[in-house]
Amino acid sequence: MKRIIVLGCTGSIGVSTMEILEQFREDFSVMALSAHSHGDALLNLKKTYPGARLALTGSEAPREGIDYAGTAGLMRLLEETEADLVVNGISGAAGLLPSVKALETGKDLALANKETIVTGGDLIFDLARKHGRTILPVDSEHSALFHLLQGRNPDDVSELILTASGGPFADMPREEQKRVTPAQALKHPNWDMGAKITIDSATLANKGLEVIEAWKLFHLDLDRISVLVHRQSLVHSLIRTKDNALYGQFSAPDMKLPIQNALFYPRLRPVEAAYTDLCGPPLTFEKPDLERFPMLALAYRAAAMGGAAPTVYNGGNEVAVAAFLRERIGFTEIADVTRAMLERDWTDPCRTLEGIFETDRLVRERAEQFIGERH
Ligand code: NDP
Ligand code: MG
Repeated sequence: MKRIIVLGCTGSIGVSTMEILEQFREDFSVMALSAHSHGDALLNLKKTYPGARLALTGSEAPREGIDYAGTAGLMRLLEETEADLVVNGISGAAGLLPSVKALETGKDLALANKETIVTGGDLIFDLARKHGRTILPVDSEHSALFHLLQGRNPDDVSELILTASGGPFADMPREEQKRVTPAQALKHPNWDMGAKITIDSATLANKGLEVIEAWKLFHLDLDRISVLVHRQSLVHSLIRTKDNALYGQFSAPDMKLPIQNALFYPRLRPVEAAYTDLCGPPLTFEKPDLERFPMLALAYRAAAMGGAAPTVYNGGNEVAVAAFLRERIGFTEIADVTRAMLERDWTDPCRTLEGIFETDRLVRERAEQFIGERH
C-alpha cells in the first residue's frame, strides 16, 4: 500500500483526491490530512480514516480531534508522519513551505500547488535531487506534458504547447473587462475549481503561472513554450518534436485524471470521467491576445527577468486577486498591480528559500500599500 498525505484535502483538488483514495482503498493508506479553515469537514474524514493524523493550519488553538494546529503544526505533522507521497492541494504561495518540508522529510510530491514551482523555482528541484525524491505534476497541462515526454530524448523536443480554455472573457474587449464583477469572473466555462485559480483563469494569469511552471519543470528555453487558446478543453497540452510532428493528450476536463495518474505513477488505472468522444464538437486553436490579457505577457516578462521576478509576479497577483474578490479593485487592475510590482526594484536575488519567503512577504506588503494608495 502506498502511504499518502493530502494537504488541502477540503479544496477542489483535495476533494477529488479523497474521492480517488476512497475508490481505491486497497491501494492506499491515508496517513495524514490537512485543511485550513474547514475544521468540521476535516474531522468528518476521521470517520473514514480513523488512523489519519489531522492538521488545521488556519487556527493556532488546539481543538478536540485535531492533532496539529497552525502552519508550525503542519510542519511537525510532516516531520512525525512517515509517507511515500504527499499530494499538495493547498492554494497559493502558502503551499511552498509544506512542499519544502515534504521533500526534506523524504516524501515524493504530487504537486497541484503550481506556486511551489513558480516561487520556489530551481531550489525546489535541487531539494528533490538532494533527498532523492520525485516531483509529479498534477496541473493538467503539466501532467499531460510529463506523460507526453516520457521516454523522449529532450533534444528531440522543439516546443511545448500549453492549452488554455480562454476563460469566461475570451471574447470580451479590455474596456468591457473593466466592469466585470467577481460573480461573473467566478463562472468558469469548463472547469470547477477554487476561487483563486478561477479568477486566474479569467485573467490568463493561470496560464502565465503555468508557462513559468513548465519552464522550470521541463527545462526548455522560454521561447519554446507557447500557449494556444483551445476553448473545448479536451486537449490538455501538446509537444512538437524536431521532425515537426505534434503529440497531444486528449481527455474530458476532469482533474481526476492527472491526480490519479500521479497517485498511481508510473502505472495507469481507468478514469471513467475522462473518456472523450472525438466525434463531438470541432476542436479549435487560437493564439491568445496578449493585449487583452496582459497577465500572460507579464508572466513571460517575469520569467525572462528571472531572479525574484516570478515570486513577485505570483505574490502581486495573489494580493490583487484577493482585493478583486473583495471588490476593492476592478478586474483589469489585477494586471496594473502585478505590473507595478514587477517594475519595482527587487534586489534580493531569491537564491535561497529564505530570500524567496522574504520577497513573497515584501511584495504582499507593497501590493497592499499600492492598492491602498490607489483607492
Ligand atoms: P481551493 O481553494 O479549492 O482549496 C485550497 C485548499 O488549501 C483548501 O483545502 C484550503 O483549506 C487549503 N488552504 C487555503 N489556504 C491555506 C493556507 N494558507 N495554508 C494551508 N492550507 C490552505 O483550491 P484548488 O483546489 O482549486 O487549488 C489548489 C492548488 O491546485 C492551487 O495551487 C491551484 O493553482 C492548483 N490547481 C487546481 C486545479 C483545480 O482544478 N482546482 C487545477 C490545477 C491546479 P480550507 O478549505 O479548509 O480553507
Ligand atoms: Mg492547469
